[in-house]
Amino acid sequence: MSKSSDASSYQRELKSYINREYAQFRKQQISDVAYNFEVDISSRDHFSGVATIDFNLADSLSPVTLDFDEGTLLRVEVNGQPITTDYEKWFITIAAEHLSKGHNTIVIAYQRNYTNTGAGLYQFRDPETDKVYLYTQFEPYEANKFAPLFDQPDIKATFTMNVIAPLDWQVISATRESQITPISTTTKRWQFPTTKLIPSYIFSLHAGPFRIWEDNSGTIPLRLFARQEVAEFIEANIWFDITHKAFSFFNEYYSFPYPFEKYDQLLVPNFNFGAMENVGAITFSENRFISRGEKTKAENFYLAEVIAHEMAHQWFGDIVTMDWWNGLWLNESFATLMAFLAVEANPDFDDVWNEFLKLKNWAYYEDQLVTTHPIDVPVAHPGEVFSLIDGISYGKGASVLQQLRYLLGEKTFQNAVATYIEKHQYNNAQLSDFVAAMSQTANTDMTGWAHEWLKIPGVNTIEPQFNCSEGKLQTIKIIQYAPEAWQQLRTQKVQLALFNRSKSEMKLSSVIPVIYRGELTPVSIAANTPCPDFIYANFQNWGYVKLRFDERSLQSLQQSITEFKDDQLRASLWQDLWRMVDDMQFSLHDYVALVDSHISAETNETTLSSITFLLALAFDELEAMHKNTIFTETLNSIENLSWREFEHAPVTSSIRKLWFRAAISASFNPSRLTELANMLSANQGDELLQDQETRWLIIQQLSRYQFGDATKLIQHELVRDSSERGREAALIANAIRPEMAVKQQWMTALLDNSESLKLSDLTAVWKRLFPGIQQNMLQSNGAEILSALPEISRSRQGIFINKLADYVVPSACNTQNAASLQKLLDNPKGIDTRFIKAIKINLQTTQRCLAKSQLMLTSVSE
Ligand SMILES: [Zn+2]
Repeated sequence: MSKSSDASSYQRELKSYINREYAQFRKQQISDVAYNFEVDISSRDHFSGVATIDFNLADSLSPVTLDFDEGTLLRVEVNGQPITTDYEKWFITIAAEHLSKGHNTIVIAYQRNYTNTGAGLYQFRDPETDKVYLYTQFEPYEANKFAPLFDQPDIKATFTMNVIAPLDWQVISATRESQITPISTTTKRWQFPTTKLIPSYIFSLHAGPFRIWEDNSGTIPLRLFARQEVAEFIEANIWFDITHKAFSFFNEYYSFPYPFEKYDQLLVPNFNFGAMENVGAITFSENRFISRGEKTKAENFYLAEVIAHEMAHQWFGDIVTMDWWNGLWLNESFATLMAFLAVEANPDFDDVWNEFLKLKNWAYYEDQLVTTHPIDVPVAHPGEVFSLIDGISYGKGASVLQQLRYLLGEKTFQNAVATYIEKHQYNNAQLSDFVAAMSQTANTDMTGWAHEWLKIPGVNTIEPQFNCSEGKLQTIKIIQYAPEAWQQLRTQKVQLALFNRSKSEMKLSSVIPVIYRGELTPVSIAANTPCPDFIYANFQNWGYVKLRFDERSLQSLQQSITEFKDDQLRASLWQDLWRMVDDMQFSLHDYVALVDSHISAETNETTLSSITFLLALAFDELEAMHKNTIFTETLNSIENLSWREFEHAPVTSSIRKLWFRAAISASFNPSRLTELANMLSANQGDELLQDQETRWLIIQQLSRYQFGDATKLIQHELVRDSSERGREAALIANAIRPEMAVKQQWMTALLDNSESLKLSDLTAVWKRLFPGIQQNMLQSNGAEILSALPEISRSRQGIFINKLADYVVPSACNTQNAASLQKLLDNPKGIDTRFIKAIKINLQTTQRCLAKSQLMLTSVSE
């Protein structure tokens, strides 16, 4: 941006978010920022602080604004003089007359309430012990709910902090405390030394009577924190072991040793995301990373993956930071891919790329929604960032980087990454810097590649076409198709794999690496290659592309899916078939039938966890469809096969737990519900019933069908489990009952502006409030919800809308729902963009559901 001499043109809009133009202006205006925070968190009612902000000002022609959300100002001084300021509720304006060109110091004494949304400085009170825990979550634009500051990623600063906290608390921040001093009979003061240059969104403050585990066996001191109330479930040695191994990997991969001196990880309650990469003080969601029973293989993997993901960000994001939020994808795609590389290097884990497929499947799904967007997309203000936390920024971005690794070669890719970090350390960078590092290292201009993959949305399809004669393959070519909405063909390197069937096994006969481009790419083949029974055009999944199978291959696939010995390939095939369901090439009924006949031969636990996940989606969708024999039959099949696999699983295996959970969520016939109720009430018995989360799942399932006295069951279970997790699970179990009065209560809570309920409770409940079977109840509430969207958009914060949008917008599988969503889209005045995204998605999924439902009816009647 060029700097205007007309200062008045930079009048900041009175809005809750900073916009990009103003942020660019402020970046020119402000530099060399140092914050010093004195924060008092010893009161339960509110917190207070004194922020001293030193900075350099380019000229004193325009006012300076500091972002500060809904606080109370007690005193403001500029360069030693007390002043009065304009403060609405979003930012503080310091008039130009108080400022000087060059160095300035602003001191602001303030007070603010803790939040109940999980954004800013969040206060949690434990329902059993009444102990208080605090944590911060600042991305993308929530640090200004903690203190007045310049809350944008390209104004990097140093942070120094002193904190007054209750005597028995731990206080954790970006640096390790240098001193703790008692200052009264009830409080201590914690001093935190100055950080390196970092952006505001990854500074942090967490505090409370946490339990600590320490490990000083490596070069970087490690600590793990969790609430006392959940401490018994923490396996600190596992955390430390994964963390050490990930550090060894990254220090080497980035050729840049971890610079932040210490590494703390904390498990926190009611967290809105999986985890957050605060510098040296990473937060993780308790619900997602603490299991009260035996962990499944997928849960163990997820822990390792997310530990590595947040660690990858310490370099990619924290040391080199995007200059604005359109760069979020590079942070996230990169951390996502790097996490898989780090876990692959850890000998305790296998099936890494099979797990990666789950992410890729998410990307393919979102890339075919009407709401898909380029990976690199303009962002007008940080509120839009919530819409970008999706399958495109994480799954597709990571898949495209994975393709880049294969295209350039691992060594070149790694060197380019190291060059990029070295060059931009403690600074900001943008996409062109990343592309430049790749081009320079690969000695090829990568701008064309970046354009076709990062600037244009959509996924292509490829189809191998071949002919054979006398049992030998004669020719083979790859045909590429573009989706209707995005006519872009791409260049990509994939592997073509040819298989032949022999003695009940599909054997790999050859693998041919191919760079395909344009509509048609001929492939060279060796002489005397046998005519294949099956061709797979994206072997080992280096490509980001959908596949169309030739007739012979499709037949082989449907008849012999479990005859492929390669685990990753089989996992891909199950997913490819599922995508054919979404593309109306295969009915849901046929998919379930295929699972039913082949699943017993599937032995890979990672693949089974994907399939059970897909079955749960299918179950919910089927329940929402017509009530007709074929639908009930298909639901019965899911119920039966899940119970059958559960009953046949070896008693000590974690596959058994997987199938038990699948069986619970597929139970709807009275006989199965009775069985579940009996298992729950038996005092002795299956070890699986000792797992508190599993017990709650059963109760929620019984409640969903109003089976037995659900209310009594919930009360009874709450005596056994009065923890925060139990309280939340009971809330869901109550809300999932098919009773209009109960649903109405949650409607009121949604529309209630008093913010009396925690956001985490609303999210947990709304996610489950209208399961497939209860969509008729949603229909009668739908109009009321839809008409309330403008008001919710106006009065609620971004994080609130982001967490609830997908669940609040009705997705009932009927034409009336489609019509009312369409009507809203025709006139979306006053509705937040995140809601509009949800409306578009739910309209599309409603239409798809109707089409899938029709396909089932016609495919059966044929
Ligand atoms: Zn991330």
